[in-house]
Amino acid sequence: MAEPRIVIVGAGFGGLAATKALRKTRAQITLIDRTNHHLFQPLLYQVATAVLTPSQIATPIRSILSNQKNATVILGEVTGVDKDRKYVFVTDADRQNVPISYDYLILATGAAHSYFGHNEFEKFAPGLKSLADAEAARNKILKAFELAEAEEDPKRHQDLLTFVLVGAGPTGVELGSALALLVRTSLKTDFRRINPVSARIVLVDMAPRVLSPFSEKLSRAAKARLEKLGVEVRLGHSVDQIDADGVVVAGERIASKTVIWTAGVAPSAAGKWLNVETDRAGRVRVQKDLSVPSHSEIFVIGDTASLDQDGKPLPGVAQVAMQQGRYAGKLIHKRLTGGAPPVPFSYFDKGNMAVVGKGFAVLQSGKVQMSGFGAWLAWAGIHLQFLATSSLRLSVFLQWVWTYVTGQRGSRLIVDPHAPEIATSTADTAMKAVAASK
Ligand SMILES: Cc1cc2nc3c(=O)[nH]c(=O)nc-3n(C[C@H](O)[C@H](O)[C@H](O)COP(=O)(O)OP(=O)(O)OC[C@H]3O[C@@H](n4cnc5c(N)ncnc54)[C@H](O)[C@@H]3O)c2cc1C
Repeated sequence: MAEPRIVIVGAGFGGLAATKALRKTRAQITLIDRTNHHLFQPLLYQVATAVLTPSQIATPIRSILSNQKNATVILGEVTGVDKDRKYVFVTDADRQNVPISYDYLILATGAAHSYFGHNEFEKFAPGLKSLADAEAARNKILKAFELAEAEEDPKRHQDLLTFVLVGAGPTGVELGSALALLVRTSLKTDFRRINPVSARIVLVDMAPRVLSPFSEKLSRAAKARLEKLGVEVRLGHSVDQIDADGVVVAGERIASKTVIWTAGVAPSAAGKWLNVETDRAGRVRVQKDLSVPSHSEIFVIGDTASLDQDGKPLPGVAQVAMQQGRYAGKLIHKRLTGGAPPVPFSYFDKGNMAVVGKGFAVLQSGKVQMSGFGAWLAWAGIHLQFLATSSLRLSVFLQWVWTYVTGQRGSRLIVDPHAPEIATSTADTAMKAVAASK
């Protein structure tokens, strides 16, 4: 008899956990992702601020699963699902909408940016979701200092050296504090015409406090730490406008050439593909066993799923996605082996953490609330533990120790795919000048 076909879309935290949970299952598993790597999103801000290189927070999916013989990895973009005929449609570099059939389907396609109806902001305020986003942010941040150094009119320096971060959740707070450290340590002595320490970093949010998922006490501690690092925190006002010259907040224009969006997330298109009930944010409403109503063979997990527990929707965090991935994998295994179905899914909340600069983090787990160096050590240990491979754990650990001790960063390179034309023409001109002078 042919082995059952299990298609998993998305090799993020949820999809990878599901695939691994099925490693002993007699089935053909096809894991499809639009990128070739599994990304550790919680450390994206460290790539954006040049602490880590992209390859320190992402691993080829193929290499993670190289020993799992029942899993095949496909690089492609899923564009739709035919839930009646049981197909997903995949587009790759060569072919459009190729149908791949399944007996079981797990959709773990995560989330994208949400600009709360202001999609026109995206052009001026890119977000931080993928490795490409983080590299683009790093290029933009480092280039701002280069442009300011090359700018002879000192009046223009301030606009170039003003960084606005929209969203004071964990990503905005971590990014803001890492940026403050970048200017105060790594860049401090590297420029001659500008003083990097004069850079203005503004963190804006319409919420009344930073890190709203945390307790008020920890929010206050994080805000005080940000301000100590020189970050200007503007709360209680949404951003009215973002354009090429900066942002407008509460009627005030803040001139800036570097605006980064960390405010909102929108789920993937899974709800549209399935044409099923979604919550207000567009996440697929799943049942207690994570399946879709009337389709017990389709599961939706992680950031793109919506499930309430204790009267509240589960948060879009890595732990939810991983626990749901493991659950869905186990459930399919039980169905295929005739075992008793597991009890309904229940999320075990291990807590929240956010780092605020060097040697300082806030941690909240059940009744435990901590801030300071101890919380930072816990943050560092837990993040290392969840990186995909031992080589990444070792390399990130060594880089962190090095950066902690010396203030030096792992990757301060500006690698811009659009730059070669300028570089080439500049190089050509320089070569011609050298040739002419001979
Ligand atoms: C900057 C940032 C910082 C974060 N920090 C934390 C933190 O500190 N702690 C925490 O718990 N959580 C954090 N999160 C949230 C956490 O990363 C997510 O909750 C988690 O990644 C969700 O897992 P997932 O499997 O649902 O989606 P993801 O991990 O996002 O994976 C989705 C996968 O699906 C693929 N995909 C999407 N659409 C398609 C398609 N159409 N076709 C093919 N492939 C597709 C994507 O390429 C991706 O690999 C952070 C998120 C971000 C963006």
